[in-house]
Amino acid sequence: MVAARKTITMQVRVSEEISRELAKRGNVSEAVRSVLDSWMEDRWPRPGKWYCDTCHQVIDGADAGFLEWLEGDDRARGFRIVHHAPSSPRYPDGDCYRYTNERHRMDNHLDSFVGSRGLVYLLGFLDRGPMHDPNYESSGVVNIREWVEIVRRLHTPLYEEARRYWRDAEAGGFFEGANEISPYVPNTLWRIISQYGPKSGGG
Ligand SMILES: [Zn+2]
Repeated sequence: MVAARKTITMQVRVSEEISRELAKRGNVSEAVRSVLDSWMEDRWPRPGKWYCDTCHQVIDGADAGFLEWLEGDDRARGFRIVHHAPSSPRYPDGDCYRYTNERHRMDNHLDSFVGSRGLVYLLGFLDRGPMHDPNYESSGVVNIREWVEIVRRLHTPLYEEARRYWRDAEAGGFFEGANEISPYVPNTLWRIISQYGPKSGGG
């Protein structure tokens, strides 16, 4: 009974949303698509698979990965997502770390950077907060764009997969007319993967 009532409530809400969109757009299929888009937007699974920046093989789960970077003068740079040594295809004869011999090497398990706690950790690179840095003068990263790329890879659903086809999408004119946000939202990323990624059934 409860489940049935829930389904009916949901159907009423969806049809209300579609009517509202229809009034705005005057086109049924556009209205349905817009409602489906907003419904899907927060339902994509969180990122859980990455491609190693060294060996380019799959890192299957955050516990198989490592984040490494360099740090000098309290500022971080050169972020890389790589295999944790025991999960590396090169193990035991080698690993995927690039900074092993660097004096300013820093690293941590990839699972420290995912989820809500991981986002807190990553934001701390930009600003340690007023308690520890009352006179904020600059961020804790050398290149904010590089940091944003890592945050997108770790937190935006589908971004890690879609970035593999980014150049093809650019070359194909996929981003024409895009604003600053639209290329990075998961629904768009899904369309990039569908359009430029490997086709199921070959070809
Ligand atoms: Zn690797």
